[in-house]
Amino acid sequence: MPDKRRGANTQYSMRDIGLAGFAPFFMQSPSFLAHQRQMSEGTGHGRSNCQTLLGMESIPTDNHIRTMLDPVEPSSLYELFDETLAAVRTAGALPSLTSLGGHTLIAMDGTQYFCSNKLSCRNCSTRKHASGQVDYFHTVVAASIVKPGKNWVLPLRPEFVEPQQSYDKQDCESRAARRWLELNGSRYSALNPVYLGDDIYAKQPLCEAVLAAAAHFVFVCKPDSHKTIGEYLTGVKVRALSKTVKRGKKRFTYTWRWMLGVPIRDGKDALEVNWLEIAIRDPSGKVTYRNSFITDLPVDADNVEELAAAARARWKIENETFNTLKTKGYNLEHNFGHGTKNLSAVLVTLNLIAFAIHLAAELADNAWKAAIEAAGARIRFFNNLRALTAYLLFPSWQSLLKTLAFKIAPPLPS
Ligand SMILES: [Zn+2]
Repeated sequence: MPDKRRGANTQYSMRDIGLAGFAPFFMQSPSFLAHQRQMSEGTGHGRSNCQTLLGMESIPTDNHIRTMLDPVEPSSLYELFDETLAAVRTAGALPSLTSLGGHTLIAMDGTQYFCSNKLSCRNCSTRKHASGQVDYFHTVVAASIVKPGKNWVLPLRPEFVEPQQSYDKQDCESRAARRWLELNGSRYSALNPVYLGDDIYAKQPLCEAVLAAAAHFVFVCKPDSHKTIGEYLTGVKVRALSKTVKRGKKRFTYTWRWMLGVPIRDGKDALEVNWLEIAIRDPSGKVTYRNSFITDLPVDADNVEELAAAARARWKIENETFNTLKTKGYNLEHNFGHGTKNLSAVLVTLNLIAFAIHLAAELADNAWKAAIEAAGARIRFFNNLRALTAYLLFPSWQSLLKTLAFKIAPPLPS
């Protein structure tokens, strides 16, 4: 992190400030720093888990963290996403991320992570209501590796929806997604990515941006917003495949339909895409799920089931990433407030990095895996980690993780 201070006002290093901003997310505890301050002052020896587990020298105040993180450019932290992915690769765990025979599914989705009609900063987007009230909000396009049947996502570099110097119009999710592909497409090309996105991604400019990055896409395609595709499907026999699947005691009928080479929109220059649909019917024949998608990948009877499953993995990014960002007991701005420049985006970035490292550790680190297994679930692992580190000083991660896995007794309070 670049340090913009001059002169002697450097009681805390930028490293300590960055780690202090990161710690509440990594430890999944908004009160982590407060507990560690109490531990270090109360015991009189001036030490806490901030030193032993996070390598910090001292703990800055929340106020100081806010002031110092506000001017930091979130992109100065993005290399940490690459290092996390590299750690998964080094551990030989990269194959556990792949789907569709050697591809990697990267789900992209925009989420609003801040909205207020009082607080704002120079990077807020705005929305005016009919009543004249103005909402200030922030949105980020998150990109995460997902896999059907797995309850995890691995965050990659994000792209913030923010006022851009090169546009006079307000920035939007679609522009941010295209910017992401321009900036990062080649960085991730070795993963052989298939990008997943909702209906707003299923437009020609974004599909072309994916193809320009030498990658593939499977995007949700709603009939209402893709009338031309609907017209092509009317009155023709569409290829289909059906299968009965037992779920519990009930038998459901899965039907896949697909059509190759349909134009994505009206007009001569329209991109041709392949269309597929999945419909699930309960024993009475009632449709319980239906969704359709477009892709540049070939679709046939052999892969349509797998493609639809891959496309449906997209919802995980909302469930897993954004719940953690927004709801899972964690108010992002709980400790540090909104800032005037970048603070809000820096905190989201630190949170995503923490989340990426958690998943990398779960895929690639045996001690971490054993501790989660002993807890029975990720959420209980973090509950235990939060409680133990509030009261006990652990000399190292090995000591903490082995305690959480019941392999050793916790250190005695000093
Ligand atoms: Zn703002």
